[in-house]
Amino acid sequence: MNSSKLWLCVEPSINVCIKNNQALLYDTVTKNKIIVTNTELLSFVSKLINHNNIIEVDNDVSAIIIEFIEELQKKFMGYLIPQSLSDKKPVQLSNILSVQQDINKISAQEKISVTDNILKNLKEINIYLNNFENEAYLFEANKQFLYCSEGKDKVSEVEFSSIRNFFSTININNLEVINLLGSDVFEYRDIEKFPELFDSKKIIFNIFCHIAVLINNLEKAKSILTNIKKRIILSVYISHSFNDVEKIDFVFKVLDELSIDYQVFFTIIDELSFENSTYIINKFNIEHYNLFPYYNGSNDNFFRDNVFNTLNDILNLTPKRIDINQRKTLNSNFFGKITVSSTGEIFIYPNQIIGSINTYSLLDCLVREYNNNGLWFRIRPNIKPCQDCIYQFLCPPISNYELYFERNNLCYLD
Ligand code: SF4
Repeated sequence: MNSSKLWLCVEPSINVCIKNNQALLYDTVTKNKIIVTNTELLSFVSKLINHNNIIEVDNDVSAIIIEFIEELQKKFMGYLIPQSLSDKKPVQLSNILSVQQDINKISAQEKISVTDNILKNLKEINIYLNNFENEAYLFEANKQFLYCSEGKDKVSEVEFSSIRNFFSTININNLEVINLLGSDVFEYRDIEKFPELFDSKKIIFNIFCHIAVLINNLEKAKSILTNIKKRIILSVYISHSFNDVEKIDFVFKVLDELSIDYQVFFTIIDELSFENSTYIINKFNIEHYNLFPYYNGSNDNFFRDNVFNTLNDILNLTPKRIDINQRKTLNSNFFGKITVSSTGEIFIYPNQIIGSINTYSLLDCLVREYNNNGLWFRIRPNIKPCQDCIYQFLCPPISNYELYFERNNLCYLD
C-alpha cells in the first residue's frame, strides 16, 4: 500500500447535517462545531459521510481540504491514520439508533404485544379536574405551557368514575408523573382518591394551583396535602399580575411548616414581571422554580426577544448525543405524555383531540397517535422550513409555543 496515503476518520460523536449547500458538523462530546459552505468541501464532507466517516486522503488534496482536515484535528473531531498501518480500511463502531418507539418496528416484533410496547412509553398524564370560566387569561396560557388555569364559575368537572374506568383496565407500569390541574383542584371532592388509582410507588403526584386559589383554600389544601401518603409536589403558579409579597411569604411559611415539596412557576409578560419574579425568587430563596414567557397579545417585542432564537442563540446550543438521536425520531416535549380535559377529551395539545375517556380505551388513543404520526413524532426533520435547515438537530424540539403561533421556526433565520 502506498505509504503516502492516509485515512481520514471522523469521530463517531460527530453529527453531520447537510442541507441547502451548507453542512454543520457538530461534536456531541466536545460541543465543537464546523460550518461548511464551500462547494468542494461540501462534496468532500458528503463523501466522508457516505463512506461511514472514513475516507482515503491523498497527499495532493487541495489547500481548502487540508485546512478543513486541520480544523477537524484541532477541534478533536477527526484524525488521520497512515494507510501503512493497516492493509484494510479501518472500521469505526458508532451508535446506531434503535427506534423502540417506531410503530413499524413494534408491529414487526411478533413476540411482544403492540399493547405492551405502546403503553410502556406512557410516562406522564395531565388531568384537568375542573375548569372555570377563564377571564384573566384570554390568550389561553394552557396552550403555551402546562398551566393550572384560573377563573370563577365552574363550567366542567371530570367524573372520577370515568377516569378510574379509563385507566384501570390496563397496567401502566412505566408511568412516572400524574399532573393534577384545574381552576381549583382543592375544590374537586375526589382528589384524594387519585393516588389509590395508580398504585406504583415511583409515581409522583404533581398538584398545580394558582397562589390565589391556594390562599383561598389553604385549610382544605393543607388537609389534602397531608392526607395523601404518596409522593406529592405542589406546583404553585404566581402569575405576572400577582404581587402581594406578604401573602406569598405567608403561603411559603405554611408549606415549609408542613414540609411539603413545592416548586414555583412564574408567568412573565415583560421586563417588569421578570424583575418581580426574580425579586421573589431571591427574597424567598426559592430553590425550584421556572419562568414561563406568556404571550398576552400585546407583548410581541418582549416575546420575540425572549423566545425567538437568533443565529447566535442557536450556535450556543449544545445538545447531547442522546438528545440528537431522539430528535431524529420523536418529540421529547410531547412523547409519552397525554392530557385529559375536564370534559373527558384526550389530547396532546389543546384542541387536537385524539379521543375521549368516555368513548375510547387508553390504548385506542395511543395507537391513533402512533398511526397518525401525531405530536409525539412531530420532529424538525419532517416539517418545513426546519427540514431544510442545518440546525434542525441543534434546535430544541417543537413545543407548545410553536403550535400556539402556528409557526415551526421561532427563529430569525430565513
Ligand atoms: S427553528 Fe427551524 S429554521 Fe429555525 S434554526 Fe431551528 S431548525 Fe432552523
